Amino acid sequence: MPNYKLLTPGPLTTTDTVKKEMLFDHCTWDDDYKKITLEIRDKLLKLAHVEEPEYTVVLMQGSGTFGVESVLTSVIGGEDVLLIAANGAYGDRMEEIAKHAGLSYFIYHEEYSKVPSAQKIGEILKEHPEITHVSMVHSETTSGILNDIASVAKVVKGAGKTFIVDAMSSFGGVDIPVGELGIDFIISSANKCIQGVPGFSFIICRKDKLLESRGKARSLSLDLYDQWKTMDKDGKWRFTSPTHVVLAFAQALREMEAEGGIPARSRRYRENNRLLISKMEELGIRPYIGREHQGPIITTFYYPEHHNFSFQDMYQYIKDRGYAIYPGKVTDADTFRIGNIGEIYKEDIEKLCEIIKQFLEEEN
Ligand SMILES: *Cc1c(COP(=O)(O)O)cnc(C)c1O
Repeated sequence: MPNYKLLTPGPLTTTDTVKKEMLFDHCTWDDDYKKITLEIRDKLLKLAHVEEPEYTVVLMQGSGTFGVESVLTSVIGGEDVLLIAANGAYGDRMEEIAKHAGLSYFIYHEEYSKVPSAQKIGEILKEHPEITHVSMVHSETTSGILNDIASVAKVVKGAGKTFIVDAMSSFGGVDIPVGELGIDFIISSANKCIQGVPGFSFIICRKDKLLESRGKARSLSLDLYDQWKTMDKDGKWRFTSPTHVVLAFAQALREMEAEGGIPARSRRYRENNRLLISKMEELGIRPYIGREHQGPIITTFYYPEHHNFSFQDMYQYIKDRGYAIYPGKVTDADTFRIGNIGEIYKEDIEKLCEIIKQFLEEEN
């Protein structure tokens, strides 16, 4: 099968050494295996710049959405009210989760090309003092916009509310001072900026808030507190753990350290992203998000003008030459997306833009 590199926001292209870890069938109750889980949890706390006992980490089977659903349905009790600030499909998904679970919630919709306003959130909190929790997405992968969680954190924490952040596509690729911002629950997954393979999500939790959630969960398998209670004892997962994925993730964390941690990785992603945008602009292809709020993870581009453009034709042309890109997801414009995270370097971006240039020339 001809191989290609993924320019998508996860799963993404991983190293051969990460993939090789999965050749071992580990025993789940073996001490060596449980130790790996404990080490992963320690390292994730460090990446978030927090420590025990204020914070702790829960690993949860399933994709990223399982992690978000686990938090929302475990920590928001029957008397609690959630405010969701949404400017993309992943914010909208939080509403879907809230609806399914029968949570009481308000939603503040912002345009997909704009960041949710901290001031607006402050006004909503004043208007509705019954709100107890606020949730939002950091890197909205729908558009590639990087939301201003720092300003929102100030308002939310100032009002004494619980702050929940979906940092799925940014954690590890953008440095987040979780403790300093006072984020209570921050969610990400194995297959994004840490560069592991899909199979579990992880949640960094403020411990007192996690303890308060005991007995509130609406789901058995997604019960955040119960998952933590079992895992915190000695690293044993509640229910079958995704052993191969865990081994691959442990290796991905070692490789991240070898690269130079979050500073080095976020620099590489940022440089990939800047190069991508400038090369695309040279081809007359414009980004959807303005410079000020464009994140370093994934970029939404308008379809090129003056061309009889077919995304499907371009996708196939690029795939035949070794890369897979992404269709657009914003609702108000014709766009496509290119991710620049994973084992992706400057050379890949240059090669990709050369392929796109050829495609546009041949189409003309
Ligand atoms: C990837 C992603 C998710 C989770 O999606 P899954 O398909 O469940 O892994 C959630 N939020 C954001 C912002 C994401 O980028």
